[in-house]
Amino acid sequence: MAASYDAIVIGSGPNALAAAITIARAGHSVLVREAQATIGGGMRSAALTLPGFTHDVCSAIHPLGVGSPFFQTLPLHEHGLEWVQPPAAAAHPLDDGSAVVIEQSLDSTATGLGEDGDAYRKLMRRLVANWNDLAPTLLGPPRLPKHPLMLAGFGLQALRPATGLARSVFRGEPARAAFAGMAAHSMLPLEKPGSAAFGLVLNALAHAVGWPFPRGGSQKIADALASYLHSLGGEILTGAPVTSLSELPPARVVLCDVTPRQLLALAGDRFTPAYRRLLSRYRYGMGVFKLDWALDGAIPWKAAGCARAATVHVGGTLDEIAESERAAWQGRHTEHPFLIVTQPSLFDSTRAPHGKHTGWAYCHVPLGSTVDVTEHIENQIERFAPGFRDRILARNVLTPAGLESRNPNIVGGDINGGAQDLGQLFLRPTWRLYSTSARGLYICSASTPPGGGVHGMCGYHAAQRALRELES
Ligand SMILES: Cc1cc2nc3c(=O)[nH]c(=O)nc-3n(C[C@H](O)[C@H](O)[C@H](O)COP(=O)(O)OP(=O)(O)OC[C@H]3O[C@@H](n4cnc5c(N)ncnc54)[C@H](O)[C@@H]3O)c2cc1C
Repeated sequence: MAASYDAIVIGSGPNALAAAITIARAGHSVLVREAQATIGGGMRSAALTLPGFTHDVCSAIHPLGVGSPFFQTLPLHEHGLEWVQPPAAAAHPLDDGSAVVIEQSLDSTATGLGEDGDAYRKLMRRLVANWNDLAPTLLGPPRLPKHPLMLAGFGLQALRPATGLARSVFRGEPARAAFAGMAAHSMLPLEKPGSAAFGLVLNALAHAVGWPFPRGGSQKIADALASYLHSLGGEILTGAPVTSLSELPPARVVLCDVTPRQLLALAGDRFTPAYRRLLSRYRYGMGVFKLDWALDGAIPWKAAGCARAATVHVGGTLDEIAESERAAWQGRHTEHPFLIVTQPSLFDSTRAPHGKHTGWAYCHVPLGSTVDVTEHIENQIERFAPGFRDRILARNVLTPAGLESRNPNIVGGDINGGAQDLGQLFLRPTWRLYSTSARGLYICSASTPPGGGVHGMCGYHAAQRALRELES
């Protein structure tokens, strides 16, 4: 280790590594300090169940990773990252044994939606065609857009509640339910303005870049980012939690891949009272309860289409999904939670021994919930895949507290670094965005724009601000 650095980054999640790479690429020395023994934050994989089974502890599927304007500039394939594209992006089973399949082709998806095919095509066509122009604006801090008309067209739909949009655009339950499943990634009640944005963006990504995952597990993204950072001269120290900024070697700038609550604990004494107040008012959203399974065989979905996608949205109708999300937001638990299920081993033989499979699923629960919802989750899968339970060889349970103990950024189980409603979508965590009231100190986590997900864009934009200071 050097005696001093131009920049120190606290944490090694996607945003931390993106920030460190941006700074190292500009020719500055940088050290990453990670609390855990392994790097990656929300990109870790581990043997959570039985020997030979590799599970993604947090993130699993990466439309935002492959679609990230920043990651697209990095030679990650030269550092071991290989994206696996399943035949379809996502599937949504229904009680009649059918499934909506979101194919990579917009037209094929529309054809599968029958009576709502034209409406889906009309809703998505412009956004998909203009995705590359819009992505830097949608995945960045608020600023004057390069394509204001295009953005206005998106904004008019995106600012609506997901339920309102789905009911007014589509006539049939399948299309409404499938849109609700996409929008539920927002971790907001689907009646909230702005919840439609998440559904639109995730559908657009399905058609523009697909919903891939890394061969070998999400850890491979972390490893590739770290390998590239090392090639640029950056240093990484693991097993090195930072409890106070005063314990760091001298550095001209410090970037923190933490959420506002931790930032206050780390550096509260350096901030103005007004900034401290703003940070303490920052709101966290819902929590997550997650299960991983080692399975004796693939999940036996009734609908064959579900075996074509690595991601399956399980929750039935729009009304059921809306109730599930409303309940979690209001502090209630539901017996029929909406689930995001992934089954990467169907397309990646490195995840499980021959003939065996992995399963990964989570549902939203109230922030900090301590209720065990294992049975509710497994009942929901059994509903659309009878015989699922018989295939379970072993399971690992991650409660909100369990997730937070592995990564303090997952406050109360909130995987997005804070609620992403309109009040905190654009100006997060405060109007200062990546800057703080202390000179030389920045926040670069998912608690800054554009928010949760493995895309590195928060880190990239925070590093741009830090570079202005380093180079002034
Ligand atoms: C269960 C789950 C499923 C998810 N699924 C997906 C998905 O499929 N696709 C997707 O795109 N996103 C998904 N996400 C979200 C995604 O993982 C996060 O949004 C993303 O990882 C946030 O990145 P980050 O860099 O801001 O923080 P994190 O990835 O949370 O990293 C923060 C890092 O900082 C370290 N740290 C914190 N405090 C300190 C300290 N004081 N000293 C040193 N180190 C510290 C932590 O140990 C951690 O390694 C999921 C998250 C979870 C939990």
